[in-house]
Amino acid sequence: MARYRGAVCRLCRREQVKLYLKGERCYSKCTLDKRNFYPGQHGAGARRGKLSEYGIQLREKQKVKRLYGLLENQFRLTFKKAERQSGKAGENLLLLLEKRLDNVVYKLGFASSLAQSRQLVKHSHILVNGRKSNIPSMQVSVEDVITIREKSKTIDFIKESLEATLRKGLVPSWLSIDSASLSGKVVSEPVRENITVDIHEQLIVEHYSR
Ligand code: SF4
Repeated sequence: MARYRGAVCRLCRREQVKLYLKGERCYSKCTLDKRNFYPGQHGAGARRGKLSEYGIQLREKQKVKRLYGLLENQFRLTFKKAERQSGKAGENLLLLLEKRLDNVVYKLGFASSLAQSRQLVKHSHILVNGRKSNIPSMQVSVEDVITIREKSKTIDFIKESLEATLRKGLVPSWLSIDSASLSGKVVSEPVRENITVDIHEQLIVEHYSR
């Protein structure tokens, strides 16, 4: 599966918002704090002109796409799926993104970034209801139990990351975690209020409706 291989801080600088793509480092040594200008040769001198309506919608879509580490095609397909569901397409989109297995593994604290969590999933370190699950886009359901494969419980960063997540109280209320057994559970469906990042999903709906 194709993925973005460039410098991730560049993505935050492009969107001028912290997307927390580098895990723990984002809390201690964030590039955006020092280099708060657009990436590229003329980035430092670039003036933030007034964005057109299209530009505003595009930037919002790019921000969310990058936040969840998706490329355009995957993101568009997720949006199409969200549109087919009942309710608001924008909200459906965010909840579909939130329920991706790679995101859940990250939110449970087994990894310090989404990229690290995706590696855990792809390298078959994760079990869902006791079964090997190596598809990052898999949707979790209420009552699903997400665990670390027995042989993988010794991976150093898992415990470190979990401790940091618990210390900061970052596990969302729709998930629960048992740190002793490295086991997480989906206790309820996520709701829009669980997503605390500043996102205006209606702009994404408008972008794809053009
Ligand atoms: Fe973004 Fe983290 Fe880089 Fe800061 S350190 S710019 S939050 S990826």
